[in-house]
Amino acid sequence: MKKKRISIVIPVHNEEKNIPFVYDALRDVWNELPHYEYEIIFVNDGSADRSDLAVESIAASDKGVTYIEFSRNFGKEAATSAGIHAATGDAVMMLDADMQHPPALIPLFIEKWEQGAEVVVGVRKSNIGEGFVKKYGSLAFYALMRMISETRMESGETDFRLIDRMVADAFCKLTERARMTRSLINWFGFRTKTVPFDASERLHGVAAYSTVKLIRLALYGIASNSLFPLRVVGYLGVIISSLSFLGGSVVFVNRYILQDPLNWHISGPAQLAIINVFLIGIVLTSLGLIALYIGKIDREVTGRPLYVVRKRI
Ligand code: UDP
Ligand code: MG
Repeated sequence: MKKKRISIVIPVHNEEKNIPFVYDALRDVWNELPHYEYEIIFVNDGSADRSDLAVESIAASDKGVTYIEFSRNFGKEAATSAGIHAATGDAVMMLDADMQHPPALIPLFIEKWEQGAEVVVGVRKSNIGEGFVKKYGSLAFYALMRMISETRMESGETDFRLIDRMVADAFCKLTERARMTRSLINWFGFRTKTVPFDASERLHGVAAYSTVKLIRLALYGIASNSLFPLRVVGYLGVIISSLSFLGGSVVFVNRYILQDPLNWHISGPAQLAIINVFLIGIVLTSLGLIALYIGKIDREVTGRPLYVVRKRI
């Protein structure tokens, strides 16, 4: 019987010191799993250090290792995508190069995959050495995503995940540019199982994902999953216009029809202000309407598949 092949995709950005460790850890895993073939794809995402030499020396002695080098830094999402595009395995596993995603857990992912899961997601229980901003920022992000988007996304879900060939094929068909690999894979909605894990501290070097980069990624994630921010503005506009219309009507009737029986003495400028607020509300409402049309355009240019097929007999 032909052995099933597992592809491991590793995005690399300034990881020269970590690469040998990851590779050794992966070798240990393969020794435990003699019934599988493996393939390791390192994608060098514009490293400034000697990550290239580190991978090339490994690739020279191991035919199972593929090395892809970007011309410059395109970001982890692009690197991961390149790896998935190049992968030939029956399952594709994504792994960080800094040992924060313990390779020793890979057999567990494979086991769940063999039991029928099409996506196996590593869920972080804790992240030692994670800063306050990052921790609560990520909690807030996931809470917001759950609220606003049709894509299911639980807090702690990471890129440490295995996808079936079928999912990888579907992923390869996606054409959108601003992408967040995790949320795209979730968007497909394939059968998913999770593997909880403790993320240790990164082995060597510092996390390349600065707070600014993370915020940018979060904004991509939000913008590519919903038009919620624009719609909120629209709703706000409706509320503002309605309230100021009501208030304005009361003031108008009181002042000009009933001749101010309650002695409110609403001044001219105050009346002008009410009219102004009403008009601002109209403008915001229009923005919300425009959001509907942008949403339509967005769906067209993003070019997400109309449907994703699991099986055809
Ligand atoms: N990475 C990458 N391109 C980048 C930044 C990071 O390919 O521009 C890789 C990095 O080498 C590592 C993974 O993405 O394998 C996660 O990066 P990092 O550890 O900096 O992020 P964090 O652990 O904070 O999510
Ligand atoms: Mg890391």
